[in-house]
Amino acid sequence: MPLIDTHCHLAAEQFDADREEVAARSLAAGVGIVAAATDLPSSRLNLELAAGHRGIASAVGVHPTETAGLDDAAWKEVSRLAASPLVSAIGETGLDYYWKNVSPAVQAKWFDRHIELALSVGKPLLVHARDSVLDVMERLKPALASGLAAVWHCFSASRRDLRPAFDFAVAEGVWMAVGGMATFADRKSLRAAIPLIPDRLLLLETDAPYLPPHPKLTDRNEPVRLIRVAEAVAELRGQELSRLAEITVGNAKRLFPALAGWAGAAAAVPDRREAWKEAFTD
Ligand SMILES: [Zn+2]
Repeated sequence: MPLIDTHCHLAAEQFDADREEVAARSLAAGVGIVAAATDLPSSRLNLELAAGHRGIASAVGVHPTETAGLDDAAWKEVSRLAASPLVSAIGETGLDYYWKNVSPAVQAKWFDRHIELALSVGKPLLVHARDSVLDVMERLKPALASGLAAVWHCFSASRRDLRPAFDFAVAEGVWMAVGGMATFADRKSLRAAIPLIPDRLLLLETDAPYLPPHPKLTDRNEPVRLIRVAEAVAELRGQELSRLAEITVGNAKRLFPALAGWAGAAAAVPDRREAWKEAFTD
């Protein structure tokens, strides 16, 4: 039963020592990956990962908290990469008012640039919203009307904003990617919303190496742990796990056509099988 982790930071430094093993563990377990970017180096690395593995799709972009030093030269390079057939999505991008290290105006400027880029290359946008739900919706709305496909990564919001966020996503056709928070018993309003997400807009993600699901086995989350997220979401929705997998994989394959031919564990073992074997045996 394949699953697709629609948001994983495989390029993060937490995976520098064993990135190939982490990818291999995930793909061998039948968990395909969309590799989200946070800056130009991770965008480049994502492309390499997608080139080397069936079952991995790549995104390019700059995380809102990383936009302080972003300039036109770096953006030009991100835009050039975005046009590559190896790139499946733009992001992650959005607005983050939690960390307060970059002004909302600077974040908004670069969020708009990502939106324009996604529209121009015709690829979905991976959206990050933290304490910024209303502003994110306002900036996305006109682009959605112009045909932008957007994924609300780590779908969640404060108790006050969750209803408007959910209603907006359903009305505007924004995909909601549910992650490890679904496994946290204290996220009551989110857990109450999960069964209401229409099948057609539901995706799963880990946000690894961040946000390990409950029970927390390790500090570093891994894409293979998507299985735990899927179990929790299936239970909350009263859906068979296999049905949930079918729905979410179908949605992910439509959004990220690079994964359309990927059939799960068996087909995920690529021509680099020998290299992986070596990595496992020292
Ligand atoms: Zn992320």
